[in-house]
Amino acid sequence: MASQNRAADSAHRYHSGGDASGEKLDNGEDLDLAIVGGGFSGLCTAYHLLSHAGVKSSFRCAIIEPCGRLGAGVAYQTDSPRHLLNVRAKGMSITENDPGSFVRWLSKAAPEFSPYDFVPRGLYRRYINDCLSHAIEQRQPGTLSLLCDEVIAVEPKSGSQWYLLKMKSGRTIRAKAVVLALGNLPPRNSLDNGLLHSPWSPCATYHNLRTMAIVGAGLTALDVILEAEARGFSGRYLVISPHGQFPKPHCEPHLPVPAELHEWAAELASDNPKLSSLLRAFQLKRKSGIHWEQLVDSFRKHSPAIWNGFSLRDKRLFLCRLRTLWNIHLHRSCQKSMQVVSRLKADGRLEQIAARVTGVEKLDGCVETAVRLKLQSGSLSTLDADLAINGTGLFSNILRTDSPLIDQLISSRLAQPDEFKLGLKVNKGGQVLSANGVMQSNLFTIGTLRRGSELESTAVPEIRKQVRAMVEEIVGRIAPAPK
Ligand SMILES: Cc1cc2nc3c(=O)[nH]c(=O)nc-3n(C[C@H](O)[C@H](O)[C@H](O)COP(=O)(O)OP(=O)(O)OC[C@H]3O[C@@H](n4cnc5c(N)ncnc54)[C@H](O)[C@@H]3O)c2cc1C
Repeated sequence: MASQNRAADSAHRYHSGGDASGEKLDNGEDLDLAIVGGGFSGLCTAYHLLSHAGVKSSFRCAIIEPCGRLGAGVAYQTDSPRHLLNVRAKGMSITENDPGSFVRWLSKAAPEFSPYDFVPRGLYRRYINDCLSHAIEQRQPGTLSLLCDEVIAVEPKSGSQWYLLKMKSGRTIRAKAVVLALGNLPPRNSLDNGLLHSPWSPCATYHNLRTMAIVGAGLTALDVILEAEARGFSGRYLVISPHGQFPKPHCEPHLPVPAELHEWAAELASDNPKLSSLLRAFQLKRKSGIHWEQLVDSFRKHSPAIWNGFSLRDKRLFLCRLRTLWNIHLHRSCQKSMQVVSRLKADGRLEQIAARVTGVEKLDGCVETAVRLKLQSGSLSTLDADLAINGTGLFSNILRTDSPLIDQLISSRLAQPDEFKLGLKVNKGGQVLSANGVMQSNLFTIGTLRRGSELESTAVPEIRKQVRAMVEEIVGRIAPAPK
């Protein structure tokens, strides 16, 4: 446990408050790079940069993260042994350059797990922190700093190469390049008046609750159910989501994708297929006996190319009609978790409701946390529960998130939302396009904010690939070692 946030300890720490007006870090340095957000994306960016042989020795960068922990974010903050990765260990290396890295680390730190297991997410946080710590140790002291603060504005300093970053604490720093690694932003809280509880600290005791409503049916909802079961909840779950479907379970044993199928998917993707011909090709393969899991996995790494080849009409059609179907088949859950859900359904303790929650109000009842949810599913109805938990996961509209930084970037026209408002408009390398379509060559995004241009952009396999390419660009632009 001592190494749980080793990287945060190894990084040079600056706390918020104090000197509020300076444009520099306390030690008088300007930054080559500021990484905004210290979840997996931010940590992975720092790791790749610090491990890159081409980076000059005087390179200075900082991760700015309000919670002061690195590699935690929404997904990996948990220490519950029940909250498992939804990708097998062998697919979770921090770097594509060394696919066996996580499995090797596991064999020493937690040898009870095999490469095919779904391991606790807290363990994964320890691994990525260890990777970053190791990279920090290879560099001069002070190469990486951690600022415990929230960035509320990024502004280009006119007539110079610098970006100014304004923090919630009042401090301002400047950097030559900025990576926005903001991840899973909280949706704006217009719906629930604070009455929906956090999935990560929902309630102290479950014993006196009879009904628990969970809004959302994704991986977060599964976490809530597994935790509540382990803590003695014996009442009924009411799981509400527009489509009323949980993620599909992974096949056991693991079904690898045959090389011919990989080749077939690569060829198909390179032809810029229309959505309709893609679906036809998919159905033909299914009829020939290929399992859907192998088909979905064979398409995964080509999803940015396929997405970018789609017409605007096909993209819209996909988002409206097929996105949920794609998500529940791609972002699967491990069988162990889904077996708990199946048992609860069989015992009559879990009901799935296909509806949208349109409002929440407090109920006067014997339980402090009791609420009435307003539901819409064709007609309007209400549903009462002793506790309601927000398990909705990712934001679906960048303009409806609770992020002062996103508001500032868009209102200042430094950035613009993509066509579908899934994230920011960026070029292939993740460089932000301003409202006038001008590329901000030293302002990058990574992860969730790239969803509009890559579709699949929220999980480790996609993020580490983006990071690798982005770091090459950053090194070439701002931090090359002398030849
Ligand atoms: C429950 C759950 C389970 C998951 N399981 C897996 C899995 O098993 N495998 C997998 O590959 N993926 C999984 N994912 C996907 C997951 O989102 C990614 O793997 C990864 O966590 C994304 O990291 P991130 O850094 O992009 O985002 P986040 O983890 O959301 O981190 C973003 C960070 O940015 C910070 N931040 C935001 N705004 C600012 C600001 N203005 N200033 C400073 N800091 C800011 C936040 O505080 C946060 O710490 C899971 C997701 C969830 C929700």
